[in-house]
Amino acid sequence: MDDADPLAGFRARFVGTESPLVYLDGNSLGRPLAATAERLRRFVEEEWAVRLIRGWDERWFDLPLALGDDLARVCLGAAPGQVAVGDSTTVLLYKLMRAAVTARPGRTEIVIDRDQFPTDRYVAMGIADECGMTLRWVDVDPTTGLTPDQVAEVVGERTALVVLNHVSYRSAWLADTAAITRAAHDVGALVLLDMCHSAGVVPSELDAWGVDLAAGCTYKYLNGGPGSPAFCYVAARHLETFTQPIQGWMGNTDPFRMGPDYVPVEGIRRFLSGTPAVVGMLAIQDMVGLVEEAGLHAVRRKSEQLTAHAVDLADKHLAVYDVEVASPRDPELRGGHITLSHPRMQEVVATLWERDVIPDYRDPGGLRVGLSPLSTSYDELERGILAVGEVLGALA
Ligand SMILES: *Cc1c(COP(=O)(O)O)cnc(C)c1O
Repeated sequence: MDDADPLAGFRARFVGTESPLVYLDGNSLGRPLAATAERLRRFVEEEWAVRLIRGWDERWFDLPLALGDDLARVCLGAAPGQVAVGDSTTVLLYKLMRAAVTARPGRTEIVIDRDQFPTDRYVAMGIADECGMTLRWVDVDPTTGLTPDQVAEVVGERTALVVLNHVSYRSAWLADTAAITRAAHDVGALVLLDMCHSAGVVPSELDAWGVDLAAGCTYKYLNGGPGSPAFCYVAARHLETFTQPIQGWMGNTDPFRMGPDYVPVEGIRRFLSGTPAVVGMLAIQDMVGLVEEAGLHAVRRKSEQLTAHAVDLADKHLAVYDVEVASPRDPELRGGHITLSHPRMQEVVATLWERDVIPDYRDPGGLRVGLSPLSTSYDELERGILAVGEVLGALA
């Protein structure tokens, strides 16, 4: 399978892939690119050290929007001028949820499902408290996820916003974003899409789907490194009227005039608050370039084949230990990882880490196999699944 893989050559561009370590957690923290090691060194020696404060005028001030446009083109299906990079996903979720509820005055409910990533739920709870709103919780099957019918059933004239995870962090369920967005728009509500587990691995069409707001992180399939800044998308039709709650000088008109008043600047820049994390944006540039070179649709094809192979291997080698696939079996219904469940998986993952086989664990009993298509080989995946079987066999 590796010999037949048209993307196999990309693996050698990542630092560490020559070692026998098995890395199956690219959906939590992507591996670094060799180009990034070089870019970081050159940034310190040739840009930061030499340009010094002039760097802001020359490149850094515009980087959050320039990189946002690259991400929009390569990964998000969005026209320029709608994506900015900065803050963490959590902070951006807060800013965007507040922007949305402010833009729908008189509406009192936020729709969200119980299986969403914790930070999305916690931010929504905080905003509900802060703004005197009610959360309309939807229960979902933890081996799949939120459906358009479930959304259509609960939205109504009270709904301000529907918060949606594009790919479930647990099951990898790929939400039908276009249909859910239509269901929300039918009642005049807005949609906020969390793309943390899809950006860089699942092609998206934010503009065509009609999504209002989106955010996602860059350290998973975009290999930006630990704590690299997140991105936000605000549809062009909202940019003139939507405002965000963390009014900082970097989102003000003419920030270096240091004027007395906050007047949000035109365009997506108004969603920035403070000084952008320039160093954190360096690695993202390399990975966006690599995804563009490989082609996101080719990345998705390999992703589907990798997850399909993971399911086949689990059926063949792990079903004897009563391991179950807790993800959709149809590749079109899932993102870039799969979850394998067994009551003793937490112990299994701890033992695997000691053996340099690195998936991760999520309750209840889920071992997540995260497959980053440009850095993962079929051989690496197979060695990982066989190791899971060995550890389970030794426990039995
Ligand atoms: C990883 C992830 C986050 C992380 O948010 P941070 O602010 O970067 O910690 C948020 N939402 C989802 C769906 C995720 O998968």
